[in-house]
Amino acid sequence: MKSVVTPTSSASAERRRLQRILTTLRDTAPAMKVELDHRTPWELLVATILSAQCTDQRVNQVTPNLFRRYHHPRDYAEADPAELEALIRPTGFFKTKAKNLMQCAKVVTEQFHGEVPDTMDALTTLPGVGRKTANVLLGNVFDKPAVVVDTHVKRVSGRLHLTRHTDPDKVEADLQMLLPARQWTEGSQRLLLHGRYVCLARAPKCRDCAIASECRWEGKTVR
Ligand code: SF4
Repeated sequence: MKSVVTPTSSASAERRRLQRILTTLRDTAPAMKVELDHRTPWELLVATILSAQCTDQRVNQVTPNLFRRYHHPRDYAEADPAELEALIRPTGFFKTKAKNLMQCAKVVTEQFHGEVPDTMDALTTLPGVGRKTANVLLGNVFDKPAVVVDTHVKRVSGRLHLTRHTDPDKVEADLQMLLPARQWTEGSQRLLLHGRYVCLARAPKCRDCAIASECRWEGKTVR
């Protein structure tokens, strides 16, 4: 992949280009919101852990029963593992996810008085919680600037040449550099939705893409 900054492409020009991209996405895409159904920070944390290697749609089919059965982190910490596994089975990797949920719930209960912490440092001490999950929480329920880098943001950022990296932490750092902090949450969420609905992994819908003129990917199917 080509370098982001070339002799004709300064960092400030790249910032302006990303602003054009986000303005176009804002004008053409539906209202932006996290698509995992939740009512509390804990429910969003549970849903985000379940969304690993699974669609949000599938998670949203599973969580109504799950949230009816268990309410507080303590309920998950004390759950019967087999029952919890059965409830989340459709999301895949259910044994690992059940174990992570129970361990995470135990730490939240014992070390954070049953409340989901609201800092990156504290969130990433929770079992099963990495920077992506922490950023989902920070940006969507704690109203803190947060660049979420999932598989869609990584792919779209690469195709748009906003980054030359594939490591999520480095993609996050590049997007942080290109955007003012107040736009971190919205900007990454718009790239995510563009990747989920238009810039698909195997067959990107380039003919329907509102930002095709800004795309530098050699594989795009419109010029
Ligand atoms: S033109 Fe195609 S590859 Fe480029 S951003 Fe749009 S959908 Fe993705």
